[in-house]
Amino acid sequence: MRAATKENNVRTCLACGAKSDKGALLRFAAAGTIIVPDWRGTLGGRAVYSCLTTDCVARFYTLKRFPEKFFKGTPAFAISQGEIHGWIKTQAEASLAHFLGLARKSGVLTLGQNTLADILENGGTAPTAVLLAADLADRTLREITGIVPVGTPVLRWGTKETIGASIGMRPVGVVALGRSPITDRIVHYCAIVNHFSQEH
Ligand SMILES: [Zn+2]
Repeated sequence: MRAATKENNVRTCLACGAKSDKGALLRFAAAGTIIVPDWRGTLGGRAVYSCLTTDCVARFYTLKRFPEKFFKGTPAFAISQGEIHGWIKTQAEASLAHFLGLARKSGVLTLGQNTLADILENGGTAPTAVLLAADLADRTLREITGIVPVGTPVLRWGTKETIGASIGMRPVGVVALGRSPITDRIVHYCAIVNHFSQEH
């Protein structure tokens, strides 16, 4: 199989016209008489794309027409405009939980405040990113941000319970992520969840 070149993966957002890697965009497929958001990019047929931002998704939904080869006539959507933000957030959270589980199995995660502190105090490799539960105690939050090297992305998502469940463990509020493509996906999905959690 020939490796896909970067150019093969570039798609245009129909709302703003910007070009991005298709992995960073939301795919929409035409299924019969409706347009279906295709989170995993697995539906067949022609597709169009939108940036994964509230602005572009909102503009996408107000398009009067789509390219003829994709969809003819007045657009009809499987998920309404009122529901699409919540739908995207739900999908992104499921992907985030999935990749956290994968990261755990791949040995990419360091769990718990004490373990992370030990590693950093002993000159171990600094994490690529740190995930902190939203229900973490203020004191723990201060202690962690005090020991994590400046510039390390600090993600906030879920509760100790939901993070623990994602990785098949007891509740855990501090998760350090090592360098890995899996970590890149987690950072990506966490940003989408946070973006689509805000009121617009
Ligand atoms: Zn866009």
